[in-house]
Amino acid sequence: MKGRVNGSYENIIVMGKSGAGKQPRVDALTRKFGMKQLSTGNIFRHYLGLFEALGPRGPLDRFRDETDGAFLPDDEIQHALGISDRADADDVTLGLKAAYFVNQGRFVPDEITNALFAAAFEAMDYRGAVLDGFPRTEEQARFLKTLADRNGARLDAILWVENEDEAIIARALGRRICETCGGVYHMEHRPPPEPGGCDEMAPDCRIVQRGDDTVESLKARLREFKEKTEPAIDYLAALGIPIHRVSGNLPDYGAEAVEASVFAAMGVE
Ligand SMILES: [Zn+2]
Repeated sequence: MKGRVNGSYENIIVMGKSGAGKQPRVDALTRKFGMKQLSTGNIFRHYLGLFEALGPRGPLDRFRDETDGAFLPDDEIQHALGISDRADADDVTLGLKAAYFVNQGRFVPDEITNALFAAAFEAMDYRGAVLDGFPRTEEQARFLKTLADRNGARLDAILWVENEDEAIIARALGRRICETCGGVYHMEHRPPPEPGGCDEMAPDCRIVQRGDDTVESLKARLREFKEKTEPAIDYLAALGIPIHRVSGNLPDYGAEAVEASVFAAMGVE
């Protein structure tokens, strides 16, 4: 596939398993093309934050009828929250809908994830995004295609950061973080200076393993990628969006080596 000249990308989708090494590749793209990372994690944090900034609002189940699986109309929600006259009332309402599922630890339905993504993408005028974590299902991919078409925006390329399950699990199981200062370590590649201590060596620093870095939860995420996300990639590929595959497991983790591999894969000078 012939590469585009620099700067002519409207939107790029970065795909890869959880823990495959997407972030350094996303960074390479945003730096090179002056684009902005649009990640589902950040989108959720943004809208949840808008809702949480209202302060305690009591139980959220009064805003949703579980028997027909629908929220109250937005204007009723906004009236009940006392935010009807706010310019960002719709965004706060999205935050409430996300909070409803996230606070119960429930799976967030595509319909809600799509709505949050659409609002964030609209705020960028549907251009200049490096999509990260979206789409994660075929339904989300179809939604993205429709949204882009309706707004005359292009989905120019997919960068698929590839990594073997075994490498991802080994890397994740060795990862340690400091609860206090956020320092990141790896038992093999960057061990903490002494057991239980971190570089900062503050008295209350404590090195721990992240709660979701267990073999079981890692395998569940890898399975979900195969079952849910690979069909999304197949769907996008069938639309003719070029897929550029790049290894997420370069021996040299330096930014220059990562950039070189990404742009070689994309055929960009
Ligand atoms: Zn520390």
